[in-house]
Amino acid sequence: GLQGQVAIVTGSTSGIGHALADAMAAQGVNIVLNGLGEMNAIERTRAEMAEKHGVEVLYHSADMTKPVEIADMVRAAKAEFGELDILVNNAGVQHVAPVDEFPDDKWDLIIAINLSSAFHAAKAAIPIMKEQGRGRIVNIASAHGLVASPYKSAYVAAKHGILGLTKTIALEVAQQGITCNAICPGFVKTPLVEAQIADQAKARGISEEAVMRDVILAAQPTKQFVTVEQLAGQLLYLVSDLGASANGAAFTVDGGWTAQ
Ligand code: NAD
Repeated sequence: GLQGQVAIVTGSTSGIGHALADAMAAQGVNIVLNGLGEMNAIERTRAEMAEKHGVEVLYHSADMTKPVEIADMVRAAKAEFGELDILVNNAGVQHVAPVDEFPDDKWDLIIAINLSSAFHAAKAAIPIMKEQGRGRIVNIASAHGLVASPYKSAYVAAKHGILGLTKTIALEVAQQGITCNAICPGFVKTPLVEAQIADQAKARGISEEAVMRDVILAAQPTKQFVTVEQLAGQLLYLVSDLGASANGAAFTVDGGWTAQ
C-alpha cells in the first residue's frame, strides 16, 4: 500500500495540488507541500493536513521558476524522510491574450512554471527513484496538452510539451520500477479558472456569465466542472502498485472534452 510512502506535490498550497496532496495523505503518505501564499495560511494548511491524516507534512518554498530551489526541494524530501516515492508536478499558471499581444515575460513565466519545473524536479528525483528501484512521476497536464483554445498560446505550448517530456521519461526509466504519466483534466473550478473567467471576458469582450456558459463549459460535454476528488481518484490509481504498467500515457479526466 501507499502507507509510509513519501510524495512531493508542487503547487499544493491551493486548488488541485492541495486536493491531490490531501488524498495521498489520507492513504498514509507523508507529504512535501510546495507553492506560493501567505506564510501563516500555509502553516495552517500544513498542520491541518498532518493532524487530519496522522502523517508528516513538510512545506518547501521552492519557486518553480528556479532550478536550484527545485533541486533543493527534492534533496530536502530525501534528507527528511529517507526516500522519495512519488513526484507530482502540478504547479501551473495561466495568462490569456492573443498571440500577437502576448507579453514576452508571461510566455517565459508559463514555460518555466508549467513545463521546465517538471524537467528540473524529475531530473533531481530520478536518481533517488532509481536507487530505490521504485518511483512514480505524475505530471498534471491539461486537456490543453491535447487540443488548443485561442488566446492560450503559452499554456497550450507548455502542456503539449509536458506530454512529450512524460513520454520520454517513461521510456528512460521503464526498466527501473519507475513510471511517468500525465493526467489531463478538463475544467476544474479552482482559483486559476476563476481568474480566467474575468480575463476571458475582457479578451473576448463578453460577460463573465457568457464565458462560463459559452466558453468554459461549452467545451465540456458533461456541462459540469471536473472535481478535484475525481482527479485524486486517477492519481491514486497511477501511484498504486496496480498502476505499474501505465507508463508514458496521458489520462484524460475531462468530461469528454477531447473526444470531440
Ligand atoms: P491554482 O492557481 O489553484 O494552484 C496553482 C498552484 O501553483 C498554487 O499552489 C500556486 O501557489 C502554485 N504556484 C504558482 N506559481 C508558482 C511558483 N512560481 N512556484 C511554486 N508554486 C507556484 O491552480 P489549479 O487550477 O489548482 O492548477 C493546478 C494545475 O492543474 C496547473 O498545472 C494547471 O495548469 C492544471 N490544470 C488546471 C485545470 C483547471 O481547470 N483548474 C485544468 C487543467 C489543468
